[in-house]
Amino acid sequence: MTVRMVLASKNAHKLIELRRILEQVGLDIDLVGTQEFPDLPDVDETGSSFAANALLKAREICAFTGLPAIADDSGIAVDALNGMPGIYSARWAGTHGADAANLALLIAQLDHVPANRRGAAFHCAAAIVTPEGDERVVEGTLDGVVITEPRGSNGFGYDPIFMPLGYQVTTAQMSDDEKDAISHRGRALQALAPVIAQLIPEAKKALEPLP
Ligand code: IMP
Repeated sequence: MTVRMVLASKNAHKLIELRRILEQVGLDIDLVGTQEFPDLPDVDETGSSFAANALLKAREICAFTGLPAIADDSGIAVDALNGMPGIYSARWAGTHGADAANLALLIAQLDHVPANRRGAAFHCAAAIVTPEGDERVVEGTLDGVVITEPRGSNGFGYDPIFMPLGYQVTTAQMSDDEKDAISHRGRALQALAPVIAQLIPEAKKALEPLP
């Protein structure tokens, strides 16, 4: 049975990525973005962790729409900054979503940091909340290093300075598909799919009858 579900995002790329993962695990879900609900109030990200913020968003959207809701929260944690920007990644330079300013500030802050102390990780928490009150959160991580000069123009945010471990390119030099296959968000969404199947068993596609 097709089950309708909301993803707490207006980002078409995130919707397509999660739809593909749900399809791969045999779930019949009509996933819609928050643009379908123009009156949805903004959710303040007041939590103290990625998981807490993802849950806050999923809870509010589930309560507002009456549908199972999925939300994610992500960011970059830099070792030399004791894990910051962390949950403040999107507003590190002061204005929410000012990607270029956030990137420039992080580069400047790490100016003095030697190559052997440039460890960092992208983190993503993905939460699902159902109208029945079930709540689950899973996490995905991508380890890497932050380099000194931006490279590449794909992706967004801190991608131009983030080089995953084992790679000689930044995530801004990867195609969307290459990045999705290893990314923190891809890993969190992959981990969420079996949880959705468990919480919403009616979404599992019936097996094709044998010929
Ligand atoms: P969110 O949309 O609240 O999860 O904020 C995530 C913020 O973390 C973004 O604004 C970026 O600054 C950063 N971020 C998260 N994931 C990525 C990524 O895959 N590449 C680059 N930056 C990211």
